[in-house]
Order: sequence, then C-alpha cells, then structure tokens
Amino acid sequence: MDPIGDKPLKKRRKAVINSKDCLGCRNCYLNCRRKVIGHKKNFLGGHCFINEDRCTGCGNCLKMCINKCISLTEINSD
Ligand code: SF4
Ligand code: SF4
Repeated sequence: MDPIGDKPLKKRRKAVINSKDCLGCRNCYLNCRRKVIGHKKNFLGGHCFINEDRCTGCGNCLKMCINKCISLTEINSD
C-alpha cells in the first residue's frame, strides 16, 4: 500500500541480466521482440544489457539464454 495515499502500488516485472555470467552470445538480443536489449563489446567478446525502462517482462529472453543468467524481478511502477 502507498503509505501516503492508501493506494495499492502497481507492480510490474522486468528482466535483469547478471553480467558476470553473461557470455555475450547475443541470443537474448536477437530474440527480444521489443528490441530493448543492447550488446556492449569488449576484448573478451562483450555482454548484453537490458533497457529496463522499456522491458515488458515477457520472459522470452529468459528462455533463450544459454547460460541461465537472466532473471525477472518485480518493481513498483508509477
Ligand atoms: S523480458 Fe521480454 S521485453 Fe524484456 S528484455 Fe526480455 S524479451 Fe525483451
Ligand atoms: S543469452 Fe544469456 S549468455 Fe547470451 S548474451 Fe544473453 S544474457 Fe548473455
């Protein structure tokens, strides 16, 4: 509950990548229908990251991740 207005807070899900375990394969990037995943290159190949503000939490990238390093988390939405 909202402590000020007594309104229930809306929750929404978003995906988060654990960059430590990301292999940079870009499988999630290629399979996000909303195109909210980016890829950052580095000397080891790179890793992917998610624009969390635009992620709908559909979960498709979780299924496509070859190293199981994406999870869904619940946040309060405005
Ligand atoms: S949860 Fe859906 S919208 Fe969000 S990054 Fe993954 S595939 Fe894209
Ligand atoms: S599918 Fe998984 S391992 Fe591959 S780039 Fe995406 S988060 Fe990283």
